[in-house]
Amino acid sequence: MDFSELIAQVTRPDPPKELALQLLQRSREPALALQLFAAASKIRDETMGKTLWWSAGISSMMPCRVEPLCTYCTYFTVKSFPLDELVASVKAIEDLGIRHLHLSGGTDLAGYDNELCEAVNAIRDVSSIEIEINLGPSLTRNGVRRLKQLGVASITSSLETFNPEIFAKAKPGDSLDARKALIEMCQDEGMPVRSMILVGLGESEADRIDHLYWLLQFPRLYHLRFSRFMPYRGTSWEDHPRCSPWEVARLVAVARLLMPHVDLGLAAGNSPDDIPLWYAAGGGNQVLGASVSMRQGRVKAQPGETVIPVTDRVSLVSRMGHIEQFVRGLGRDIGSAAPQLR
Ligand code: SF4
Repeated sequence: MDFSELIAQVTRPDPPKELALQLLQRSREPALALQLFAAASKIRDETMGKTLWWSAGISSMMPCRVEPLCTYCTYFTVKSFPLDELVASVKAIEDLGIRHLHLSGGTDLAGYDNELCEAVNAIRDVSSIEIEINLGPSLTRNGVRRLKQLGVASITSSLETFNPEIFAKAKPGDSLDARKALIEMCQDEGMPVRSMILVGLGESEADRIDHLYWLLQFPRLYHLRFSRFMPYRGTSWEDHPRCSPWEVARLVAVARLLMPHVDLGLAAGNSPDDIPLWYAAGGGNQVLGASVSMRQGRVKAQPGETVIPVTDRVSLVSRMGHIEQFVRGLGRDIGSAAPQLR
């Protein structure tokens, strides 16, 4: 089939999975990928508009209690983020003009319902910032309901990889079924859902397409983020290849055709340098302007970053100027308002 006809077929409602896989496979050829990216970007502009929007992240919220820990991970923490420092961090994020925030990490399969409600309540006492929660499958159905009542904007459940064998190798103490169940639970409870795909753990292109098609059944999915595998020294994955940005960009473009109204973002393993290719491939429209974690209190600013001390131990790292420059180079602007979540 002619490649432009293949793009047209996959753009129609409910395209056969085999055609989406063929599109992904054939887009390895750069000349064909450019055609796919143009179609995906046009859809993004039509469905989501041309203005990007800021979010910020506070990571390492709770101790990660999966046992054993994920075999690729070096960023788990063993302490909770103190509430007074959490509140101070939120105020510092608001001072940057950001109105949207996600709280993330770690995971406890036994549940963090009470701890998360306490954290959200503490933030709500001082701020009406939009809050998203991403702590893996650490919530019961009752926890989802309580967070919804507290006005939480969405809950994230990252499957990371849809291949069960690779999931078991990478995340032996975690549960793919529990991560899927949390998405199903949010859908039932009317809670908007975010999810993430970790590209480059060794999954096939067919696995990636299966992953997208499984997510397509959830109308409450409003944001899907793409991580790019980074091998860390000292983990059992240190010799596994770094994922190419080309793999992420092509998958984002196919995802855009399949889920035109879903915000398709960049997650761990990507940097501001990845923004132009991601955007050209149909990604958009959220960008992460600033992040906080306890560990960042001890690190120096990288080029393009501004470090803002929040407390003795906590710093806010802003990349807003750097990202704004890159986005302006694409002829686009960034606003502060988050779109209305579905
Ligand atoms: S659940 Fe997240 S924080 Fe915990 S070990 Fe796995 S990747 Fe690291």
